[in-house]
Amino acid sequence: MAENRERKKGKNKYHKLYLIEKIKNWHNGSMPKAFMESIKSGQFKIALFIIIAAVGAALILYFAGVFNKPAQNENTSQNSGQPSTSTSPNGQTPEISTPSVFVPPIDNWEARVTKKPFGIYITPQTSPVQPERFSGYHTGVDFEIFAEEQNKDVPIYAICDGKLLQKRTATGYGGITILACPHTNFGEGENKLNGEDITVVYGHLRLTSVSANAGDQIKAGDKLGVLGAGFSNETDGERKHLHLGIHKGTAINILGYVQNLSDLDSWADATTYLK
Ligand SMILES: [Zn+2]
Repeated sequence: MAENRERKKGKNKYHKLYLIEKIKNWHNGSMPKAFMESIKSGQFKIALFIIIAAVGAALILYFAGVFNKPAQNENTSQNSGQPSTSTSPNGQTPEISTPSVFVPPIDNWEARVTKKPFGIYITPQTSPVQPERFSGYHTGVDFEIFAEEQNKDVPIYAICDGKLLQKRTATGYGGITILACPHTNFGEGENKLNGEDITVVYGHLRLTSVSANAGDQIKAGDKLGVLGAGFSNETDGERKHLHLGIHKGTAINILGYVQNLSDLDSWADATTYLK
């Protein structure tokens, strides 16, 4: 037994000497001296720990980024087509932002307001449209057609979400539709509609082209119909154009002209809410 232990001891001693020799060879060979010194002093273990910790932290940050990105994309796709949401500075209360402008009632609307803008005072003598049978302050905006549209269908769109109240003929207009849009928040500053109800008069439409019926819910941008033919029953003898009147409140009022300037206050200029 004792002999055995003695032999084992001798073997261990030999092995230890062998390792020391090997380390010395490293030291003299290609291993950097500072690295060898750090191994000897135990700093190596600390350095290794720092490296592992740094790699671990980098991996955590990387995977956090990878898993966050698809979540953000999902949010974006959920919001498309919906009212955009914004987050208040404290990040707590999301607000729903409603559109501040009308959907244009007609393509290229801005180039079409050339004869009777909102509020213009006309008489048969002074009107930019001749011959003229009306006089007073214009309660709506007239959108003219372009020359090439005389014999084409000119589509007309709903400017706001609402309910179709009436579609019928009326003196001075031919075909009309009346759309009621509740609780509107269009515009900015002094022209802002602060949750007001409005009724929208579309004058000079071809009634047979209006597929919606009274009582139907209409979305902003839905096609209501097309303009009536000029100088026909569809326009009550007027030129082919759109008269768009916006009356404040829920009362139906289709007057095209008022005789007192103060009466214009109950009407809104559509172009204010298109820009
Ligand atoms: Zn008009």
